[in-house]
Amino acid sequence: MTGKTGQCLCGAVKYELASDPVMSGICHCKNCQRQAGSAFSTLSAVPGSDLKFTSGEPKLYEDSATTSGGTVKRYFCGTCGSPLYSETPGQPGMAFLKTGTLDDTSDFAPQFHVWCDSKQNWVELAEGIPAMPQQ
Ligand SMILES: [Zn+2]
Ligand SMILES: [Zn+2]
Repeated sequence: MTGKTGQCLCGAVKYELASDPVMSGICHCKNCQRQAGSAFSTLSAVPGSDLKFTSGEPKLYEDSATTSGGTVKRYFCGTCGSPLYSETPGQPGMAFLKTGTLDDTSDFAPQFHVWCDSKQNWVELAEGIPAMPQQ
């Protein structure tokens, strides 16, 4: 274990990471905005087998109304509604953790921005971080 742990807002679902994230980024797609109720999703990719649930089980929403046409699997706490992670058909086997649920976010640093076409106007992106109009 990496010592990295996290949980949903109510604590019904708790997890540990068995490996460090391979990459971290921000998704500005409209569906992430809706699910998060916010401006974007902060994501870290980890192999799905390294995301271990130590308490509870997330519920699944299969999100097929995507710009890409693929079905994104969005996992969340069925009690409090916190988004926990997503799986996309383009990167099978990877879990895209919603990093706001980590207990310690001090070393989160996005390496890229995706779906900037739908970025909210007030959000200013730091220079030097790649920003893709789509994925
Ligand atoms: Zn919860
Ligand atoms: Zn998104």
